[in-house]
Amino acid sequence: MSAAKATPGPPGKRHHARPAARRPARFVARAGGREGEGAAAAAPPSVDAAIVRQVHRRLARRFGPLDPPVRRDPVEELVLTVLSQNTSDVNRDRAFAGLREWFPTWDALADADEADVAEAIRPGGLSRTKAPRLLAILREIRDRDGSLDLAWMREESDDEVGAYLESLPGVGPKTAACVLAFSLGRPALPVDTHVHRVAGRLGWIPPGTGASPAHEVLRRVVPPRLRVSMHVGLIRLGREVCKPGRPRCEDCPLNDLCPTAPIYLGGKKRSGG
Ligand code: SF4
Repeated sequence: MSAAKATPGPPGKRHHARPAARRPARFVARAGGREGEGAAAAAPPSVDAAIVRQVHRRLARRFGPLDPPVRRDPVEELVLTVLSQNTSDVNRDRAFAGLREWFPTWDALADADEADVAEAIRPGGLSRTKAPRLLAILREIRDRDGSLDLAWMREESDDEVGAYLESLPGVGPKTAACVLAFSLGRPALPVDTHVHRVAGRLGWIPPGTGASPAHEVLRRVVPPRLRVSMHVGLIRLGREVCKPGRPRCEDCPLNDLCPTAPIYLGGKKRSGG
């Protein structure tokens, strides 16, 4: 199947390090729908920086080293992030293994029929939604860059990489932050459903703030050196303690810092740490 036609658009900021011929088509107008909900930007609440550091310390004490996943190639991280939507890590990994078995190279995947891709990733769920999304992203990259090599990102600023990623079809702040954090080792804090819920209960994002605008809010709340590990810690807390529905505040290391805890603990003593 032939690749999708390139989307024309305004050139991005000029760079000095890469071939000019590859530059103009790279930064184009946003091409697709956005992940996450809520478009309205929200002002970050006033959060005490000392409390943010305390939360990080307590999460590390509770869960051990808050190490991010093993660093991956940016294209691989993009593919994994699409596959991870609305499924478990186990099923995401099954879908990814199936994909690599059917299509050993990214070019083979970009050239594949959508129905074959959907079949390959079926164990991950929502395969008919994810297959066209994957193909649209890969074909757009190849059309703009001439290849599926995103190694150039290692030399670019966070803002430039983020702008490029978010201009790809269906890619929003969370996926961009995953690539920045996990592929490039940059100070980004992806806001998935767990991070969004826990940060909301901690009062770090205003009520009603969608997941996409929450990225900018948390960027201002959490200092750069803590962002990636804070992401890891908040996910652990969200999965194991601050669950959807009723959170287990009685077992939470943050219960003396959290404005939501009194709702669930009533008059019970808050232990903290
Ligand atoms: S105290 Fe309760 S609501 Fe607050 S972060 Fe912990 S589990 Fe969540």
